[in-house]
Amino acid sequence: MPKTIPTKTGKALAAFQDVSQERLQYAKAVYDHQNHTAQDAIDRIQSVLIRQARRRAYVGENKTSRVVVELPNDAIWNNTLYMAIEIMKDLAYMDIRVSGFTWPPDLCIECGKPIKRHKRGH
Ligand SMILES: [Zn+2]
Repeated sequence: MPKTIPTKTGKALAAFQDVSQERLQYAKAVYDHQNHTAQDAIDRIQSVLIRQARRRAYVGENKTSRVVVELPNDAIWNNTLYMAIEIMKDLAYMDIRVSGFTWPPDLCIECGKPIKRHKRGH
C-alpha cells in the first residue's frame, strides 16, 4: 500500500468504513437481543467469514488507474458480523431457527431500521 492514499481512493475508503459502521449498529442491535447460544452461533459464522474475507480491494482512481488498498480490520469485522446476522435472519425466514435466534421486536425485519422511525407504507 502506498504511503499516501490518493484523494479519491481515500474518499472511497472512508465511505466503505461509514457503511460498515451503519451495518455494525444494526448488527449489534440484533446480536445483543440474542441468548448466549444464538450469540455463539453468530460468533462461529462470523469467524468463518473473517477467515474468508478479502483483505484488499481495487479502487478506481480514474478511468485508467486503479489502486490496491488494504481494507481496515474493523470494517471487515463489522461487515462480517452484519453478514452473519443476515444469514441467521434468512434461515429464520425459511423456518430454520438456529440456537433460539429471535428478531428484536423494535426493528423492521425487512430493512433493519427501528420501527419507530419508519415511514408509513413500509
Ligand atoms: Zn423496514
